[in-house]
Amino acid sequence: MLEFVRKSRARRRYWARSYAGWRRFTAAQPGAAHVALASLEQAGRINFMITQNVDRLHHRAGSNPLELHGTVYSVICLDCGFSFCRDLFQDEVKVLNPKWAAAIESLDHGSPGSDKSFGMKQRPDGDIEIDEKFWEEDFHIPTCQKCNGILKPDVVFFGDNVPKERADKAMEVARECDAFLALGSSLMTMSAFRLVRAAHEAGASTAIVNVGKTRADDFVSLKINARLGEVLFLKFCQEYSTLALSVSLLCDKLIRQGSWNQNQS
Ligand SMILES: [Zn+2]
Repeated sequence: MLEFVRKSRARRRYWARSYAGWRRFTAAQPGAAHVALASLEQAGRINFMITQNVDRLHHRAGSNPLELHGTVYSVICLDCGFSFCRDLFQDEVKVLNPKWAAAIESLDHGSPGSDKSFGMKQRPDGDIEIDEKFWEEDFHIPTCQKCNGILKPDVVFFGDNVPKERADKAMEVARECDAFLALGSSLMTMSAFRLVRAAHEAGASTAIVNVGKTRADDFVSLKINARLGEVLFLKFCQEYSTLALSVSLLCDKLIRQGSWNQNQS
């Protein structure tokens, strides 16, 4: 974040790559886990969802989670706080950098390989590499339409704090829930870890589904070492309706956790 604020070079690098990859990024579709969670919400089994994701895939699946780390679908002014839709920002970039934007579009439309004149190359994973020379010199970033200030994606960069109002809301929900399920996160960021810890300390049942260690493994009631979507959901069920059921069963198990724990000891 500091680098982003202080160095226009870092900003050009970020926005050039982000602009280039935007179309592919926005074409992503929700996975089995997103769909299962949305259906559980609709069934009233999940009262509140908090996400660390910034990609809006939960929204596409029909959920409306609190976005703890913000979202790349909004752009915000560092100087006056004005925020606006990312699509508008993309349009502004295009106006300021017409030749470059046209080159990006030709990549998007499937001509594989690279455009040497712009130093762009589509990698096998779909990300777009951009030659340093290009974004260092010729890439122009839009500024705030209200105050001409510096724009950044409305996300919490690594090392930054979650805005207070949002952090407070998440904490309030964590303290008041009866069960807290953490999915697909190592909880290495303090902003997420402290929520699980607060829920646990307030007496809620807690569970984690994640591949590998998490920061809360020592105290959660239940830890399932599994990949979301692939293992938790798909292994047990093939159909949409039963996807939801497997999460539902897990919730039931959590709610019974008190007696379940005593039985273990
Ligand atoms: Zn501004």
